Amino acid sequence: MFQALNLEFFCLFVKVKTNKKSFLKKALVISLKIFYIIPLVIFMKLVRAHINLEGSPVSIYLSFPKVLLPCIGVLKRVVQFLLLVLVVNIFAYWTYQHFTEAAREQRNLLYSRFQSLNKSIDTINTTISQLYGNEDLMYAKLGLAVPDTSMKEMGFGGPVLPDSLLVRSASSLKRLKSSMADRISRTEAKIDRTHNSYLSLQLYMEQLHGKLQHTPSIWPSEGYLSSPFGTRTHPVTGEKGKMHYGVDVSAPKWTPIRASANGRIERVANSETLGKHVIIDHGNGIETRYGHMIKPFAKEGQMVKRFDIIGYMGSTGRATGSHLHYEVWFNGAPVNPIYYMLSDQYSVE
Ligand SMILES: [Zn+2]
Repeated sequence: MFQALNLEFFCLFVKVKTNKKSFLKKALVISLKIFYIIPLVIFMKLVRAHINLEGSPVSIYLSFPKVLLPCIGVLKRVVQFLLLVLVVNIFAYWTYQHFTEAAREQRNLLYSRFQSLNKSIDTINTTISQLYGNEDLMYAKLGLAVPDTSMKEMGFGGPVLPDSLLVRSASSLKRLKSSMADRISRTEAKIDRTHNSYLSLQLYMEQLHGKLQHTPSIWPSEGYLSSPFGTRTHPVTGEKGKMHYGVDVSAPKWTPIRASANGRIERVANSETLGKHVIIDHGNGIETRYGHMIKPFAKEGQMVKRFDIIGYMGSTGRATGSHLHYEVWFNGAPVNPIYYMLSDQYSVE
């Protein structure tokens, strides 16, 4: 059995000799030879060398197993190879340390930037949430339905924590970048939506303001209310149950009479009942009439604003004394002007 093994390893050795280019095979065979001779090394013969150092009393004895003499050349190659591997490893380790340190610094810098960016996005989202609250309140106050709530319900997504993301995998920075980009994109969409919503509100408010500017809302002259809207006994004719289509505001002659809202002078005329009077068209089906003037101070087609003087109080037409007969018409029918005569503190400029 022992002899058979010996013969087998000898054959391997012979093969190596015939193929010197195969360094791997050489290493393998030498390794096998080493393992093969381990049990015999105790009994092997040692070659001794005596080395005398020049000028020194010290001498060194080196012992080398005689059996290893045939493979000393290969051993030299192995040692050279191992030394080369060691040098390459040291260089690779140094390079790895150098570059990983630089990469670590860059990664830390990115972390801090992402964290800063996250904080900024959080602040923006908080502001948007506050704007949503204000927006809802404004819509509620104006009696309007809040449009497009889907984006609000979409949510902002939780903040992306760099640490938790980066430990997931080597491509975590890409994931983090992607998440941040997505978060920024969604935040931008919300800002756009909020911006558009506020523009709509602004437009609506302007329209509302314009409408209010064209709605009668003041006393057209100083004085006191001497006759209300509704049926009454006519002060001149004595006719009972006569409908009074406006209110009378009494004051001395030449008291200024002002337009109660923005509009266009539709008519300046003189009639038997209203005397010298002015009619203003305010748009939206609203019209006001001012009668018994001593002198109109407006021209037909003229655009007037609220508080503009359009004439002076008198008693022309069917009137018993100096007063203004003031009518408000809505969609072709007279309405009680008193509902459109607010005190100055409520007037809309
Ligand atoms: Zn009247």
